[in-house]
Amino acid sequence: MSVERTLSILKPDVVANNAIGGVISYIEKAGLKIVAARMQHLTQREAEGFYAVHKERPFFGDLVKFMTSGPVVVMALEGENAVARYREIMGATDPKKAAPGTIRADFASSIDENACHGSDSLENAAIEIAYFFRATELCPRTR
Ligand code: UDP
Repeated sequence: MSVERTLSILKPDVVANNAIGGVISYIEKAGLKIVAARMQHLTQREAEGFYAVHKERPFFGDLVKFMTSGPVVVMALEGENAVARYREIMGATDPKKAAPGTIRADFASSIDENACHGSDSLENAAIEIAYFFRATELCPRTR
């Protein structure tokens, strides 16, 4: 087991549904600690840059449109095996396939509007955290 950091985005559907606190309670109950957090309304360029890996996929345009449709909450999370742990509590990409009790099962309405993002590897977590936060914005949780 090792302490890792991962990037979480609470997508515009969560913010619009007034469910920020609901999702954060799942994160905190899972033992993950928030070490940085900010609400921001992504620009088209920021969303396209973040999801550049998907730019050839058929859903790319709709994904960027959705991600820029309202504010999101970006957070860096820290904890034991944080990358895998957060993906476990997020549930499958398609909320219809997500296990009961996961964030997507409980908060998402469709595969397009699926509540949250979580980094899929430790390597991508470092890249994605740096995409949104300066090193000085990450707050060590020592207490
Ligand atoms: N997505 C979509 N339609 C699809 C597949 C993916 O809109 O058919 C969106 C969805 O918001 C997903 C994101 O693209 O969260 C990134 O896809 P990925 O396969 O990386 O899923 P994730 O890692 O978010 O579970």
